[in-house]
Amino acid sequence: MNQIEPKLLTMIAPESIPGRLELQLAEPQSIALRDLRGIGPKTEQRLQQRGIENQLDLLLYVPRKYRRTYRFHKGPKICADRAEWVEAIGRVTGVVPPRGRRPLEIRLDVDGTDFKLLWFHLPYRGFARSFKAGKIVRFEGKVEHDRGLPTVAHPDTEILKERPKRAPTTELVPIYGGIDKVSDSLLGRAIHNACDCLAPHLEEGVPAALLKSHDLPTIEVALRTIHVLDSVQDLDRFSEELKTARHRLIYQEFLDLQGALTKRYVVSRRAAQAIECKERELGRELVRNLPFSLTGDQKKAIATIADELDAPVPMRRLLQGDVGSGKTIVALMAAAIAAANGAQVAMMAPTEILASQHLRRVEGFFADLKTPFTHLTGSQSAAQRRRALQAAASGEAKLVIGTHALFQNDVEFANLGLIIVDEEHKFGVEQRQALLDLGRDPHLLSMTATPIPRTLAHAVFGDRDLTTIREKPPGRKPIRTELRDRFRASKVYEYVRDRIESTGEQAYIVYPLVEASEAVQHRKNVIDGAEQLANGLFSNLRIGILHGRMNGAAKEAVMRQFATGEIDVLCSTTVIEVGVDVPNATMMIVENAELFGLSQLHQLRGRIGRGGTASICILLTGSGLTEDARKRLRAMVETDDGFQLAETDLRIRGPGEFLGNNQAGLAEFRFGDILRDAQWLQLARRDARRLILGDASR
Ligand code: ADP
Ligand code: MG
Repeated sequence: MNQIEPKLLTMIAPESIPGRLELQLAEPQSIALRDLRGIGPKTEQRLQQRGIENQLDLLLYVPRKYRRTYRFHKGPKICADRAEWVEAIGRVTGVVPPRGRRPLEIRLDVDGTDFKLLWFHLPYRGFARSFKAGKIVRFEGKVEHDRGLPTVAHPDTEILKERPKRAPTTELVPIYGGIDKVSDSLLGRAIHNACDCLAPHLEEGVPAALLKSHDLPTIEVALRTIHVLDSVQDLDRFSEELKTARHRLIYQEFLDLQGALTKRYVVSRRAAQAIECKERELGRELVRNLPFSLTGDQKKAIATIADELDAPVPMRRLLQGDVGSGKTIVALMAAAIAAANGAQVAMMAPTEILASQHLRRVEGFFADLKTPFTHLTGSQSAAQRRRALQAAASGEAKLVIGTHALFQNDVEFANLGLIIVDEEHKFGVEQRQALLDLGRDPHLLSMTATPIPRTLAHAVFGDRDLTTIREKPPGRKPIRTELRDRFRASKVYEYVRDRIESTGEQAYIVYPLVEASEAVQHRKNVIDGAEQLANGLFSNLRIGILHGRMNGAAKEAVMRQFATGEIDVLCSTTVIEVGVDVPNATMMIVENAELFGLSQLHQLRGRIGRGGTASICILLTGSGLTEDARKRLRAMVETDDGFQLAETDLRIRGPGEFLGNNQAGLAEFRFGDILRDAQWLQLARRDARRLILGDASR
């Protein structure tokens, strides 16, 4: 056998990351559909409409299911109690023509068993006349039992010239379906033909050693099994073989993905010239100035990051930690270290609120470090923006904080060395890339508070390293979460009012809408909600309003008032969802909680429980909840562990939905299912890394 170079080992970074398995040819070969027996221009067109462009695609068009048929030379074995499919050949013994509502009835002798075929409507005129006593008929269809007599209604029939000499031995027929006007038997024949022609020229795809160690068949064997190209004698054995054949395709699909991700990871580091950050004193000084001491996980994360910054290969790290786990300070440490080594740092946040919150923290910390910084947001005046752009382009500003405004056309950096992306799941892949393009081999540190379940993280972020902060800062009290029906809402609001009045703590009220909407009348909105509270239960409290239609300056002003305690209650939409940090806020009411997604609810709830006081989150719901909504709300009450909630969310929504638009393509596999086949994904990742990095430990 000739040695096939597995494509995993050719070290070129792939342009795109494969999601769906594709077969490859080891040597050039015509793969036009029209070369196949029985496929003319019409059929070709029909196949192409279903995305089957060539013979390789055709081989991967796998049966939906398999139908069991009986050998027709031995006489059918029909279970008495169950309808079964039968394909058999018999001799016509009698014809009862249709009359009135009575069907056409044909009697057949199939190797000694009497069969009845029925037609309640005839396919065409004169159909009945084609059956004459003594004719040999092949038929197939579902067998029913009519007074003990095996009966098939509306079978497919074919009149044979003579009884075939050699009996077919196949007992299983693949059912493909799904392609308009292309029958299964035509597909089956074409696939058989394609497999015979192409199998010797197919690239194996998975190195032989890996096939052996996972006990998987070659691609040819797998395809032959799946399409039932060889006769099946033993059904139990077949179903075993079918299972491993499918596993092989799943494994290959994952291996291709992991190979591509690993290559991308390697190539992004090869011959790179990231700024090496040796000097760490500024980082240490930042820590000395902190009003608290770092948690063990924070220290570990910082140590890992500092080591990576001190190397010419750019860091590609995703820092994940539950809401409130203290990621920002880790990022600011990294920024301080980079800045001290002459690199500029860009820190990007998904909202203006968050960007200005970072700015406030930086004002506190960095002023002491004598490190100049600036910010870029969409709501700046032209003059402000000009000054900020100037500071970035000249290299004067060491740290530039901003929103999407950071990667507009006119933004330039003198020496961008580190990019920090906060709440990275809020950005698309292209946006991250646009930022990366602003520097030469910059380091990248992304942060996310939507923990990605391990399996999914491997599938999606195989080209990055992962650091997880599990530990929360000390002294945090767990958040109590309760579910209340809307008609009890006034009790809930009274509780919140009383607690604000007696303790001076603050509260968030979250609404699904900004203002009233005709279309969805049962949904609460911020504007009316805040007004009702101000005129009613909360008339003695100071209420602020925050939503996405306000301009940046107005939002900023309200957030500042809330942060400094000038307002007691913040009525808001989900704009407060990410990152906002006001430790004195200890209560949250979520109106129409059933409308929010699980990770969104968790993010929202993460706004409280940030100080030392016990916090409470009350989820108000309407009636008529869907099963999924019920599951989400129950999960919220049961745990506030973000990792556990992410797993639950993934299970409720499935990977495609869970990941949203950002990485959706990656979750669409042809054969694999990240959840169902998690262990194959793990194996594929390990194997790809071993093959490419030559290292099992990473
Ligand atoms: P997130 O991980 O959600 O971005 P933040 O970085 O906003 O969390 O931190 C949440 C709060 O915890 C902030 O007020 C921060 O100052 C505080 N914090 C961070 N680390 C510690 C720590 N080690 N000890 C006490 N408080 C901390
Ligand atoms: Mg944060």
